[in-house]
Amino acid sequence: MQRRLFSSSIHLFKPFKVAIVGTGPAGFYTAHHLLNKSSRDKKIHLDFFEKLPAPFGLSRYGVAPDHPEVKNCEEFMTNLMSQFGSSGRHKVRFLGNVEIGKDVKLADLEKYYNAIVLAYGATSSDNSLQIPGEDLPGVISARQFVNWYNGQPDCYQKGNEYTPPPLDKIENVTIIGNGNVALDVARILLADPKSHWKPTDISVDAEDLLERSTVKNVRIVARRGILESAFSNKEIRELFELKDAKFLPVDANLLQGVSTKKLGRVDKRRVALLEKYNTSPSAKDQGKRTWTLDYLLSPVEFCADAKGQLASTKFVRNRAIDDPLLPGQVAPTDEFVSFDNQLVILSIGYKGTPIAGFEDLGIWFEKNKLHNKGGRILSQISEGENDVNSTYKKGWYTSGWIKNGPKGVIATTMMDSFDTAENILEDLTNGAFIEVDEDAADIMDSADLASSPVAETIVQWNNWEKLNAYELRKGKEMGKSRYKVCNKEEMLNISK
Ligand code: FAD
Ligand code: NAP
Repeated sequence: MQRRLFSSSIHLFKPFKVAIVGTGPAGFYTAHHLLNKSSRDKKIHLDFFEKLPAPFGLSRYGVAPDHPEVKNCEEFMTNLMSQFGSSGRHKVRFLGNVEIGKDVKLADLEKYYNAIVLAYGATSSDNSLQIPGEDLPGVISARQFVNWYNGQPDCYQKGNEYTPPPLDKIENVTIIGNGNVALDVARILLADPKSHWKPTDISVDAEDLLERSTVKNVRIVARRGILESAFSNKEIRELFELKDAKFLPVDANLLQGVSTKKLGRVDKRRVALLEKYNTSPSAKDQGKRTWTLDYLLSPVEFCADAKGQLASTKFVRNRAIDDPLLPGQVAPTDEFVSFDNQLVILSIGYKGTPIAGFEDLGIWFEKNKLHNKGGRILSQISEGENDVNSTYKKGWYTSGWIKNGPKGVIATTMMDSFDTAENILEDLTNGAFIEVDEDAADIMDSADLASSPVAETIVQWNNWEKLNAYELRKGKEMGKSRYKVCNKEEMLNISK
């Protein structure tokens, strides 16, 4: 008890030091809540670590270029930086181009910070299907395709550039999975490059290739039924309403099967939308690209032609299981169908990976996320036959996709990050945090960072502001909302 009082009273005078790893929505919403909801007698010194030279995570590198209103969330971070950047009760720094686990050892953060929040997202890898042909060059992940059109620097490394799919040589594309990412990808392929994409912040490489695109048909294929569609109604309506593409009717039997069911509000709306747009092409649709929603099909093989190029995808037809205990589940039949396609985009979910150093720290990563309770990280003590003993890892927290797995829109990420922040504040009040050596240096002056090669190229907030101003200025000249600098070296040079 005595120690508790001592620890918490210290913070009447000493700043509570927080490191947040990742500057996507989870990182900046956690920070926002911490800084704005901490009691008046606490001051917080918060450092954001970001592996890229630019902040905002998937808001900049995931959200589709034609959804600029979604990116307004970035103002939360910008406002934090201007409100608390250098003066006032709290202090906040942005340390961009610093990858935790590579440039700075994860465990070393404990020397400088009372609380460490892992909010590094789940964008480092992809789920896979584990079926024959998945390694053909024509089968790509939505994550890489998204990174490419959004100008994510990993795709634009000089000498190791990502090769985009040959959209100027193919006609038929199949997208596996029907979540909102699948719909973003479909819109990229279907909407008019000049009128729809050019004015946005889409990468100029993507803009160029889309202008030459020969794609004619896009299939969006799901393994389950209409009511299990993973997309949301707003996003599917947007696709239906594209001027430049025509939706081809969905299987009438499937639609009839769901229309007669007793449905909740969201499903009712979904079915109503499908019924509204379920019309055959007319003369006015001549020459338009076409797209379909296919249901109850699981891919079993990607098939190549004699030259080893992807030519088609074979699917097994599924049937809905008629069991109230297994709602929405399907089982394979013995019927197969094949669709011709020269490109398959797997949109079956992103995948998070651990940061180097988890094992040494006992941080427990499993099944795409960090084990945690309300954002407090759990470490594994021992594994019994049927269960695992775990304990809180004092001072370690998590927010966002790496906390919950790669799902959830920005609004849910925000609410959930506030929960994590609330628990950090509770632990601060109760003295449950990492004790930092009184004489510990600032990490910026320490051997752990100052003598690392990355010290020369840390992007601080004023550096980012330079890059931001450059991108906006150049974008304006080109008739775009922003010209994204995609190559990392170029980003570093401009932001110097
Ligand atoms: P992220 O946004 O991924 O942020 C993680 C950050 O951590 C990144 O900046 C990353 O560079 C950094 N990082 C990673 N590793 C390290 C490390 N070792 N050291 C330092 N930094 C590191 N939601 C909507 O509401 N509307 C939309 O229109 C929308 N569109 C989307 C489109 C796509 C393609 C995707 C994939 C998602 C979309 N979402 C959308 C969901 C939304 O993007 C997520 O809810 C949100 O971004 C998750 O936030 P996060 O901070 O957990 O992860
Ligand atoms: P998602 O919504 O989880 O969709 C994944 C899709 O992949 C589902 O259709 C799923 O089908 C399918 N799938 C998974 N494993 C499969 C397998 N082995 N075989 C066949 N199909 C498989 O994921 P997401 O589209 O990547 O989106 C991630 C999150 O970001 C979501 O919360 C989404 O709403 C959000 N986001 C939002 C927007 C927006 O608001 N505009 C845009 C993009 C992303 P089952 O359902 O059958 O598993």
